[in-house]
Amino acid sequence: MDKMLDIVFNLGMLASMSILSGFIGADGERRGRKLLMQGALYGTASLLGMLHPLVLAPGLIFDGRSVMLSVCGFFFGPAAAALAACMALVLRVHQGGSGAVMGVSVIVSSALIGALFHRMHYSRSRRASARLLYLMGLLVHAAMVLLMLTLPEDQSMKSIRLLALPVMIAYPLTTLFIGRILSEFDAHRRMGESLKLSESNLRRSNEELAANLNKLMKREKELRFANAVLLTQQETSLDGILVVDGEGEIVSFNRRFTELWDIPDDIAASRDEKKVLKRATERLLHPADFLSKVNFLYQHPHEKSRDEIELTGGTVFDRYSAPMLGLAGEYYGRIWYFRDITESKRAEEEVRKHREHLEELVRERTNELEAAKEAAERANMAKSAFLANMSHEIRTPLNAILGFGTILERDLSLSETQADQVRTINQSGRHLLKLINDILDMSRIEAGRLALHNVPFCLQDLLDDLEAMFRVRAEEKGLSLSLERDAKLPGNVVGDEAKLRQVLVNMTGNAVKFTKQGEVTLRARMEAAAETGPRLVLEVEDTGPGIPPEELEHIFDAFRQSEAGREAGGTGLGLSISKRLVDLMGGELAVRSTLGEGSCFTASVPVEPSEETLSQPKTPPRRVAGVERNEAEGPLLIVDGVKENRDILKALLAPLGFALREAENGREALRLFEEERPCAVLMDMRMPVMDGYEATKRIKASEEGSSVPVIAVTASAFEDDVQNVLKSGADICIRKPLSPEDVYEALGKLLGIRFLYADEPRTADTEQEPPPSMEALAALPEELIKAMRRAVEDGDIDELHTLVDRVREMNREVAEGLQKLVRQYDYAALSSLLSDGDRESGSS
Ligand code: ADP
Repeated sequence: MDKMLDIVFNLGMLASMSILSGFIGADGERRGRKLLMQGALYGTASLLGMLHPLVLAPGLIFDGRSVMLSVCGFFFGPAAAALAACMALVLRVHQGGSGAVMGVSVIVSSALIGALFHRMHYSRSRRASARLLYLMGLLVHAAMVLLMLTLPEDQSMKSIRLLALPVMIAYPLTTLFIGRILSEFDAHRRMGESLKLSESNLRRSNEELAANLNKLMKREKELRFANAVLLTQQETSLDGILVVDGEGEIVSFNRRFTELWDIPDDIAASRDEKKVLKRATERLLHPADFLSKVNFLYQHPHEKSRDEIELTGGTVFDRYSAPMLGLAGEYYGRIWYFRDITESKRAEEEVRKHREHLEELVRERTNELEAAKEAAERANMAKSAFLANMSHEIRTPLNAILGFGTILERDLSLSETQADQVRTINQSGRHLLKLINDILDMSRIEAGRLALHNVPFCLQDLLDDLEAMFRVRAEEKGLSLSLERDAKLPGNVVGDEAKLRQVLVNMTGNAVKFTKQGEVTLRARMEAAAETGPRLVLEVEDTGPGIPPEELEHIFDAFRQSEAGREAGGTGLGLSISKRLVDLMGGELAVRSTLGEGSCFTASVPVEPSEETLSQPKTPPRRVAGVERNEAEGPLLIVDGVKENRDILKALLAPLGFALREAENGREALRLFEEERPCAVLMDMRMPVMDGYEATKRIKASEEGSSVPVIAVTASAFEDDVQNVLKSGADICIRKPLSPEDVYEALGKLLGIRFLYADEPRTADTEQEPPPSMEALAALPEELIKAMRRAVEDGDIDELHTLVDRVREMNREVAEGLQKLVRQYDYAALSSLLSDGDRESGSS
């Protein structure tokens, strides 16, 4: 009975400890603490078992410590097992006795095996199966049986024999029993925990669901809004919009689409794409084109397209189509836009027509302008031709005026008043000539016909000439004229000498003309600027009246003159021409002036220094008084269409003893040339019947004429014309109005004639040439001698020359003798000789 009570106590204590342990658990929060509590609980159970063992038979004790410690290790791991084992060990060591070693060993091995099983099976979340628990019980108690060998020798085999079987049967079953209780607890607890977990999971997913629902509702609201926007956009769009899906079935279209295509409500409501398409094609002008485009796009879903389609009745649509693609490029269908562009097309057409009209107008205007330009060019050419003709026409009489004027000026028999009048005539003539020349220059510059002739020339000579030209005039006015040349001024430069001279003459001429007292300074220097190259700077400064500021800005305009300028009798063209000439040379003409103090004109022109040596000594023009030696054979042939011009040349040349022949035009000149074999020809260029160019060419082309000098006489003011004249074969060209010096110089050069100058004494041989003998004179026709005598008595020098010319045809020697007397105005000798000759011839 006692044993039963011990069994109940022991098993009940073990079972209740296990149940208690089940309530504590070993996981969740504070797991470490729970494990320690489990260790303490199982340690206490072991102690209680050890203190109150169930004694089945002497030596057969059941205290349950091996079961407790192995179960504790199995369910709660090494830490809990170690704590429980420690408590049991303390008591067992304290109890002592012969089985102490075995008792300690049993405690340690039970705890170890339990912990090992925990490691191997239970901790891997495997449920503690009955098999596992039983296996562990068997192992623990097999070890216990083995440990019995550690008992004193006399006890060990006895104990084994007695205890091995009950231990191997009872203890594993007890372990299984206790383990099952704990396992059940564990299972319940785990289930509870997983329920709790699922509940919290459920709660969480519930919350998530609620949040998602909220989001969805918000999204739906947004979608509804977007849909409303889209619908409004579609419906208020000016374009007709049609959306079709991937199969070509209609998804949607807006009202504008039905309006544009005039689709009846029933067809629109049916959304039948075939009916819609049929309706649309009925209205098309080229339905086949339309359909082929539609088909093409269905076959090429990713293509976009834009074109214009024409409907019957003149309506035009702008058609645009684009695929509807997803983010990954998947094709959902296609959207079509149709816009009525009939009006804008019409406007475009209008604009096109307007533009064409405008272009036509522009073409017409351009043609008109071209015609006007051509007319203007023709007019300009006509102007140039007119000016050239006018110049010729004016120069011809002017030639006569100035020619005879010059001859008259030399006539010592004129009274003082007459001489004054002649000088006025000459001055006016020269002014008129300058005016004509200036106007011609101006018109040539404006017509762009003036070309630069850049050649090397001696700059120093040009400056010397200029100084010499104005020195006398300046001195006459009591002005001091100085020329300041920079030390670095080159001797020779390449440039257009004639134009530069014209500019300088104008500037210096003005300075001398307008300055009443003080000085005129002419400065010349070179300036080198990197970008413009070397420039010749010529400055003319005076202490004259100066120019008022308001006139200064127009000073280079044509015909601009101050009061002083008008009084001084200028043309008002000089500066304007100079400015244009300097511009033509690529230079600049500038002026600065202070009223009452003076003016300074500066011309700077690009020139290149030249290495050539050009300077040649110049002789001032001298007055020719007669011919010292004339070795030329034959008369001089004067060819001019105008009698006055021929007369001037005759007046210039006859007194010098030249035999003269006259022709009115080229043809007559050719005839006379054949007959008379002249030693030289003075040929006017412009003549009726045959002009001078042609006549010169023919003379020069003939055998006899090729070596005969031709002096061309031209009234043209243009340098280019001179070049043309020389091209015709003429040897020299001199210009009208003729200056006696030019004529003499040309003859001297071409015929080797030596002239006698007024300031030169006659050489001995001229002086010594004997007058014609009476005998020779008597051989002349009587009427000729009489005529000569009459001319001497009348003082008609012209007539005398003509008559001497006739004498020359009969007896050259007598004519020369007479000519000399005529030239010396030796009327006394002439009249005695002629009276004697008359007598001689009369007596014979
Ligand atoms: P012109 O001297 O024949 O009148 P220009 O064209 O040479 O013509 O000169 C135009 C005007 O410029 C002159 O009339 C004069 O009023 C003014 N002018 C030119 N040079 C000077 C100068 N050195 N001093 C004062 N005035 C001048």
